[in-house]
Amino acid sequence: MSQKLKWIDEELQNLQDAGLYNKIRTLSSPQGAWLVVDGKHVLNFCSNNYLGLANHPRVINAAQQAMQQYGLGPGAVRTIAGTMDLHLQLEQRMAAFKRVEDAITFQSGFTANTGSIPALVGKGDMIFSDELNHASIIDGSRLSGATITRYNHADPADLQAKIESHAGTYRRGLIITDGVFSMDGDYPPLDKIADIAEAHDLMLMVDDAHGEGVLGEGGRGIVDHFKLHGRVDVEVGTFSKAFGVVGGVVAGNARIIEWLRQRGRPFLFSSAVTVPDVAATLAAVDILEESTELVDRLWANAAFFKQEMLNLGFDTGKTMTPITPVMLGDVTLAREFSRRLYEENVFAMALGFPTVPVGLARIRVMISATHSQEDLEQALQAFARVGRDLGVIG
Ligand SMILES: *Cc1c(COP(=O)(O)O)cnc(C)c1O
Repeated sequence: MSQKLKWIDEELQNLQDAGLYNKIRTLSSPQGAWLVVDGKHVLNFCSNNYLGLANHPRVINAAQQAMQQYGLGPGAVRTIAGTMDLHLQLEQRMAAFKRVEDAITFQSGFTANTGSIPALVGKGDMIFSDELNHASIIDGSRLSGATITRYNHADPADLQAKIESHAGTYRRGLIITDGVFSMDGDYPPLDKIADIAEAHDLMLMVDDAHGEGVLGEGGRGIVDHFKLHGRVDVEVGTFSKAFGVVGGVVAGNARIIEWLRQRGRPFLFSSAVTVPDVAATLAAVDILEESTELVDRLWANAAFFKQEMLNLGFDTGKTMTPITPVMLGDVTLAREFSRRLYEENVFAMALGFPTVPVGLARIRVMISATHSQEDLEQALQAFARVGRDLGVIG
């Protein structure tokens, strides 16, 4: 019998033994405050559907209408015959929404990163990268062939020191940071980072996947939050989180966007997103531009939940956004906590090493505008019961 795939069995067993094997839960309901997961009704604190747009009637209707007019698939990559007027509309709308010069869309936030970083830097260049940046930034950076220098998380002084100590050793330089860091719910002092980028004439890129629809006026993101329009060269985003659909976007400097239309490999060699996705995303932008109601409700829900958790005696870490980590330390405790919550019909993920550092295991609570006051209170009661049972709070 062939032995050539035996290594996979061994590796999978290693994952099982280390407690790192991903058991994937199956939903049989739309995204919302409540989910049907493996047949069970649970309160949802796991998804990135911050504003409830993934199942919003206007978003669904827009997708249906567009399919009547344009059908489904784009039929080609963007540069051959896959650019529909809808794609261009979305790019113009995103540039206006973000208050920047231009925008280009990709198939996902992941491909927006792996497409844009190698177009901007290559061999002989240097990337200054926050040590906690997302996997797609890391992959895009590696693909580029540039030298990667990591700086301490959200630390402008360390960034400055790293830039100074590498001065003169590279051709072009690019600073990259996540906007909102999804494990802790914090964000960097982007204003200070922009000052440093300008002082050293370096390109600046922020991946605002968790900031869009959340931070800034009406959810315009971290650049808007810090009022840095025109000072951040590349703003990467995703339509898969607060926008509730799927797709990626790069917004910012018009010269860079034009360059990505020529040199962004996933743009050139992978087909465009489908008609219903584009139309649904356009409807999501409409909703965000018309009113800040959903974004306001998201922040109000988050403020209430976080304050009540603190009152109960929980540690919510470094959160500055609706992402609420509940710090537990030990990974076994975090897993047990998550399991007990699930028994109480509250679905919230335990995160441990290697997703977060050893000893910093946690439950991550993703607050949404769709949670009602009653939902939040029910969750708080479950957290209180499990927390007391497991000796986490008094
Ligand atoms: C989720 C995420 C991505 C990937 O976005 P997709 O559209 O799901 O591919 C990229 N960067 C960051 C920081 C993210 O959190």
